Amino acid sequence: MSAHPPAALWPQDLARRRDRAQLSLRACRLCPRDCGVDRHAGPTGAWCRLGADAYAYKELLSHGEEACIGPTWLIDLSGCSLRCLFCTEWAHITQPMAAPAVPLRSGWFLRRLAHHIGQGARSLSFVGGEPTVNLAAVLSVLADVPPASQLPIVWNSNGLVGEDAWPLLTDVVRTWLIDLKVSTASAATQMLGAGDLDYGARVRDTLDRVHPATPPLLTDPARGLPTLIIRHLLMPGALASETLPLLHEIAQRWPHAVVNLMTMYLPFGPALKQLPAMPALRTLLPPNERDQAIGVARQLGLHLLVDGR
Ligand code: SF4
Repeated sequence: MSAHPPAALWPQDLARRRDRAQLSLRACRLCPRDCGVDRHAGPTGAWCRLGADAYAYKELLSHGEEACIGPTWLIDLSGCSLRCLFCTEWAHITQPMAAPAVPLRSGWFLRRLAHHIGQGARSLSFVGGEPTVNLAAVLSVLADVPPASQLPIVWNSNGLVGEDAWPLLTDVVRTWLIDLKVSTASAATQMLGAGDLDYGARVRDTLDRVHPATPPLLTDPARGLPTLIIRHLLMPGALASETLPLLHEIAQRWPHAVVNLMTMYLPFGPALKQLPAMPALRTLLPPNERDQAIGVARQLGLHLLVDGR
């Protein structure tokens, strides 16, 4: 047996953060929707449709995320601060408490964590839906994890982080995995359900805050996980208006991010029929758009992954 207990990977004040997060639910501003409602009283008035509990609707040891964070224990939490009409998880974001989702509780969490560490998990990924709307419940279970079981945390988020969430997340998250979905305000309004939210400004502010001072060391996995991964899903018909402007902006503004271009768009979002003006979204990604996006990203010198590899 080691003479020294393993060093804690997470901040020592998780119990205090848990309590502060529970208090913040009394007038919730965990995301920029700024609802200000009391989630301890239930989900009424909460844009995310969540009360105080989080609900896990899927979990697995994933080898399919970015290679630099895997294998990762992936926990899907229901509820979201957006309504992307191409979302394949639509049922889980619009009915977050419906089966098969189960409340996130410490007993279940610690058992599954031990199992996945035994299976080789290298990190712990919270995804959704959107993890930030579930932050209070996440901190509640993390506060019960012993130091020996603390894995680096990946926060797989839409980038909409409220002012009350920042001090709770800082130094807890090892890797920010931010979905940068669209460039233009019109696309955010039409496709993301973000018409009453300045999606572009909010997600850019998040990226500014978490962008690291130095480039990632992807060729040396022993150095650990990257600080920032920007995921961008290539969508059919959106190359010129959304993808290419975003790639140029990333090169200028967030050059130390790892950039993962996701090329396997599936036109199966159950709400896609609400987008009659964008028929391209009901098709697969044309190969020439894929090739062009990858070519531009390479020309720009981004720290590029394609479908996580
Ligand atoms: S997490 Fe966001 S959407 Fe949900 S109640 Fe809080 S402010 Fe509203």
